[in-house]
Amino acid sequence: MTIIDSHCHLESFVRNKTLAVTLDRAKAADVKEIICVGTDLKDWSLYHDLARDYPGTLHYTVGLHPCHVDEAWHDAVSALSPWFMDTTLPLALGEIGLDNFHLPKDADSARALQKMQEEAFRQQLAIAYQLDCPVVIHSRNAFADCVRLIDESGVDWRKVVFHCFSEGPDEIMELNKRGGRGSFTGILTYPSAQNIREAALAQGLDRLMIETDAPYLSPQPTRGKPNEPAYLRHTAEAAAKLFGISLDTLADITEANTRAFFGMSR
Ligand SMILES: [Zn+2]
Ligand SMILES: [Zn+2]
Repeated sequence: MTIIDSHCHLESFVRNKTLAVTLDRAKAADVKEIICVGTDLKDWSLYHDLARDYPGTLHYTVGLHPCHVDEAWHDAVSALSPWFMDTTLPLALGEIGLDNFHLPKDADSARALQKMQEEAFRQQLAIAYQLDCPVVIHSRNAFADCVRLIDESGVDWRKVVFHCFSEGPDEIMELNKRGGRGSFTGILTYPSAQNIREAALAQGLDRLMIETDAPYLSPQPTRGKPNEPAYLRHTAEAAAKLFGISLDTLADITEANTRAFFGMSR
């Protein structure tokens, strides 16, 4: 059985020198492949090097996360394209999008930052359109605006995933009817997250992908502790129960979906 962690940030594990034990624990939990998702210039080369050094285990993406957008966003965005000519190729552009949750209190600064996030998002969507690559979307309190900007970009919705999907069934149907999808974190295991479980069921098994978003969002049994890829097993177990299938089948389906979406070889 192979469970793929389709969205993870390993930077803190490298910094704390706990990468090797973390990967051992992941493997023991059948989490055998991990996609390291880039958030800004500072982690792209780290994740590139990890993908190069752990072929078949670690993969990477590059993108400027909305929470890393500042006045210098243009420099980061112009440095994106060359990665897609490297011998160790990124699987996708991301994570990119809009975040209305972590905005400054002052209304003028908040508006200015929203404008910058939107412009950085537009430009990165234009690059994704040119490259025709998968796109990982980060949307926090910004669902309708993210959908609108993707619609306007012409990006192929079949290549779009809203990671850490945290809306309800109506919103996921908006993605699905365009050809897009949502992927699910440990939030799926939280007792209060009925809405998100309904969204997962509404989307169905055909497009289901799961992720830790580690070190954030630990699933219920380890909630409050830093998350890590091994804990994806809890989310996989909860998803299997939700869909009324075995863990093995759930792992097989999400593995196949993730490989197809990101164009990963076996
Ligand atoms: Zn995110
Ligand atoms: Zn993330």
